[in-house]
Amino acid sequence: MMIWHTAPEIVSSLVVGVLLLSSGNIRLRLTKKERVFQHTLIVTLCVLAYNVIVDVFVQSAPVDQLWIYTLLYTVLYLIYPMALNFLLWYLILFIGEKTPSTHKVKQKIVTAVHAGLYALYCIIVLLNLKTGWVFTVDEGGIYVREVLNTLPFILAFSQIIVVTSHFLAEKSYVDRITFYLFRWLPLVSLFILVLQLILPDIFLAGTAISTALLSIYLTFQTRKISIDDLTQLPNRGYFISSLSRAVRKKEVLSIVVISLDDFKTINDTFSVRKGDAIILALTSFLLKSFPHAQVHRYSGDEFALSFPQESGNPGEIAQQIMKRMKEPWVVDGISASLRYTSLEMTFPCSGNIEEKPLTILDYALLIAKTQHKGKHLVFNNTILEEIRARRTIISRLHESLEEESLRVVFQPIVELSKGTLVMYEALLRMNDNNLIDISPGSFIPIAEEIGIIDQLTLYVVHRVCAIQSELMRDDKEVPAIAINFSASHFSNRELIRDIQGIIARHRIPKGKLFFEVTEHTFSALPFEEIIKTMNSFLSYGVQFNLDDFGTGYSNLAHIFNLPFKFIKIDKSLLWQEPAGASSSQILKSMASLLQEMGFDIIIEGVETKEQAETLRSIEFPNAQGFYFSIPLEYEEFSRTYTGSTHFPLD
Ligand code: C2E
Ligand code: MG
Ligand code: MG
Repeated sequence: MMIWHTAPEIVSSLVVGVLLLSSGNIRLRLTKKERVFQHTLIVTLCVLAYNVIVDVFVQSAPVDQLWIYTLLYTVLYLIYPMALNFLLWYLILFIGEKTPSTHKVKQKIVTAVHAGLYALYCIIVLLNLKTGWVFTVDEGGIYVREVLNTLPFILAFSQIIVVTSHFLAEKSYVDRITFYLFRWLPLVSLFILVLQLILPDIFLAGTAISTALLSIYLTFQTRKISIDDLTQLPNRGYFISSLSRAVRKKEVLSIVVISLDDFKTINDTFSVRKGDAIILALTSFLLKSFPHAQVHRYSGDEFALSFPQESGNPGEIAQQIMKRMKEPWVVDGISASLRYTSLEMTFPCSGNIEEKPLTILDYALLIAKTQHKGKHLVFNNTILEEIRARRTIISRLHESLEEESLRVVFQPIVELSKGTLVMYEALLRMNDNNLIDISPGSFIPIAEEIGIIDQLTLYVVHRVCAIQSELMRDDKEVPAIAINFSASHFSNRELIRDIQGIIARHRIPKGKLFFEVTEHTFSALPFEEIIKTMNSFLSYGVQFNLDDFGTGYSNLAHIFNLPFKFIKIDKSLLWQEPAGASSSQILKSMASLLQEMGFDIIIEGVETKEQAETLRSIEFPNAQGFYFSIPLEYEEFSRTYTGSTHFPLD
C-alpha cells in the first residue's frame, strides 16, 4: 500500500483554520472579493481535511473492494485543485478592483481561461477511470503513478502563469505592497511545486496553498492599515511609524509636508470626484518629481515627503513644488489652482525635546497652518520654543480650572464727552506657577484649539452673572458687562443652553449683558448659524458687540446685516501712521458711516490724553483704553461701577 506523509497537511489545516477564524471576526459587510477569500479558506480547509481522512482511512481500514480506493483518489484529484482555483480567482477579482471598468472583458476572459483549464483537468481525471493515464490501483490496493501523474502540477503551473501574466499586464494599476506580494508569490509556489515533484511521497500542495493564503492575508491586513485607498500612498499611520523607527535608529530624516489650503472649496465648487482627480494628479506629480522620497498621504489634504538627509535638499524640493503649484491643475475637463502651506523639517529636531516626533510634527504643522498660512515654513528653534511654551500653557489651563485660580478683571468702556461708564469688558486672567499673569493673547487661542474655551467662557459667564445678581439683590445699580464669545460657541448647542440657563437663573435684566465676537468668527461659520444663535440670545436680553473691527477680512455686507449694538473699532486704526489729521479724518468718516447705519461705536486702545482729546474733537462717542483705566480686579471694580464715577480716575 502506498503511504503518503500527511503531517504538513495537518499543520496547513491548522494555519488555514486560524485564518478562517480571524477573517470571520470582521464586523464589516464583506465585498464579493472578501467573500471569495473566505470561501478559499473554507474550500482549502475541506480539501486538506479530506486528504487527511483518505490517508487515515487507507492506512487503517484496508478494504477488498478496489473501486472504493479508486473512487476516493479520483475525488481527491477532483477537489484538490479547488483550493488553488479559489485563491487565483480571488487574485483575479483583486486585480479587477484596481483596473478601470473598461478592462472588465479582459478580466472575464482570464476568469474563463482559468476555469476552462480546471474543466479540462476534470475531464482528464474522469477519463482516468477508463484510461488509467493518471493513476491506477493494483490488485493489492496499491496506488500506482501513471504517465500523467503530474497532471495537478501541470494545471497549477498553467493557472499560475495565466494569472501572473494578467497581473503583469495590469501592474500599473496595482499599488506597491500588492506588487511585491505578486512578485514573489508565483516563485514560492513554483518552488514548492518543484519540491513536490522531487519528493512525491510528501504532500506539499496544501503547504503551498496555506503559505500563499497566509501571506495574502497578512499583506492585505498590512495594506488595509497602511495604504490610503484613493492615492494608494502609504498613510499617516505608516508615515508616523517609519518616522519613529528612523528616530529610534538615530537616522536623520528630512521631511516636507504640503497642506492644501481650503481644499473643501475645490470639492464644493467642482464635486468630490473632481477633487479626487486633482489629488491624484498631485500624487503623480510628487511621485514622478521626487523618486528618491517616500510620499505619504498624511491626511485628506496633506502630503508628507520623507527622505534620508543625504539624498535630497528639502529647500529645493519645496522650490520645485512651489513652481508647479503656480500652474493650474488641469484634470477631467476642469482647471483649478491649489493654494497650500508647506513645512520643512529635519528629524530628530535639534532641541532634543522629549515629545514624540508625531507631537512635534503636528504642532509644527498647526503653527504653519495658523501663523504662516499660504507660505513655506522652515522648522527652527523658535518654533521648538513655541511648542514648549504651548505645552506649559496647556497644562496650566487644566491646573487653573481644577484649582479654580482663574480671575476675571473688568475694564471700563467710557463715554468720551463726560468720562462716564458705558459698560465693562470682562477679561480673563490666568497666572503661571510664579503667579505672573500669562497674556490671554497666548492662552485664549490655545484654549480655543484644544476645546477648553467652553469651560473658560462658562466660568466668566458664571462669575459675571453672579456679580450682577448680587448687586440686584442689594438693590444696587447693575453695570452692563461685555463677555468675549468665541467663534466655536456659535455651533455648540449644549454650551448655548448652559449659558442661557445661567442667565435665566440669575434673572439678568435686558441690556446688562453683552457678548463680544470678532470679525474672524464670520469667516469660519455659516451666516445662518450665527444669526440663529444671536437671535436666541437676544430673546434672553443679551446684546452683541463686534470686537476688533478692522482686523478681519470678512464680508462687510453680511456683518452689517447682523444685529450688533456696538461696533468696537480696533486700536490699530487709532494707532496707524501717520498719526494726526489724516488718521482722525478716517476715524471720523468711519464713525459717521457706522452711526448712520444704526450702530453705536467704541474705539479701543486709547492710551494717551492726546488720543482722547483728538477723539473728543471729532466727537467720537465711546472709548476703552489704559488712559481711562487698565482692567480692574474685582475690589477696584466694585468701587467704580456706580454711574457717578468718572474716568480716568483721579
Ligand atoms: P479684546 O477682547 O479686544 O480685549 C481688549 C484687550 O485690549 C485686552 O487685552 C485689554 O487689556 C487690552 N487693552 C485695553 N486697553 C488697552 C490699551 O489702551 N492699549 C493696549 N495695548 N491694550 C489695551 P487682554 O486682556 O490681554 O485680552 C486680549 C484678548 O484676549 C482680548 O481682546 C480677547 O480677545 C481675549 N480674551 C480676554 N479675555 C477673554 C475671555 O474671557 N474669553 C475669550 N474668549 N477671550 C478673551
Ligand atoms: Mg473683547
Ligand atoms: Mg478688542
